[in-house]
Amino acid sequence: MVMTADPEAATTPAFNLCGGHPALDFVNTLDDRFAADGPVERLGDYGDLLRFAAQSQLVDARQAAALARSVSPAGAVRALRAAREFREALAAVLYAGVAGRPPASADVLLLERRFQDASRHRELCWQRTVANTRPVLVSWQWGRFARQADLPLWTLAQSASELVLSQAMERVRACGAATCRWLFLDTSKNHTRRWCDMKVCGNRMKARRFQARQAQ
Ligand SMILES: [Zn+2]
Repeated sequence: MVMTADPEAATTPAFNLCGGHPALDFVNTLDDRFAADGPVERLGDYGDLLRFAAQSQLVDARQAAALARSVSPAGAVRALRAAREFREALAAVLYAGVAGRPPASADVLLLERRFQDASRHRELCWQRTVANTRPVLVSWQWGRFARQADLPLWTLAQSASELVLSQAMERVRACGAATCRWLFLDTSKNHTRRWCDMKVCGNRMKARRFQARQAQ
């Protein structure tokens, strides 16, 4: 998959979110994952992780900007490393599922730990309705934990846990282009979607088949 070259551009989204779920788009941030000449890391630094979380609407722009200002360089390095480690365990579990194989227990254990971490860093918030009468709104919020470097990781872990515990897992597919293999959620009516992004991989594969026919 091709992404825009300039992640700093405020107006241009840095990441292609065609996976249809933040957890799948997150896995796709290690681009060309199975390429012979090695993958391409799209989460080059903590700023990239914040931009991804913000673009995926897991962290709001204000929170992302506050974290970019407040997290120490060492904290940013550690948080990025933890996020990438979680992403790779998630990728291993999801690609195993796509291939019909059971996941490795070490990967499942890492997911379990991160899912538990995420739920330990939330506050139960009670909020009266506008009329100040019943019912009272109760929800989980990041609250005071929103100022910690691992906020993007926790939001991604929560999002991933929602996916892997849902029926939608049956609809997780890998792009049919051998050089891409991006994950996506097949929400097409007949469950026949084959490409991460028809405009990119679909057209490329069609062109390749056309060329192959012409060459015969
Ligand atoms: Zn693709």
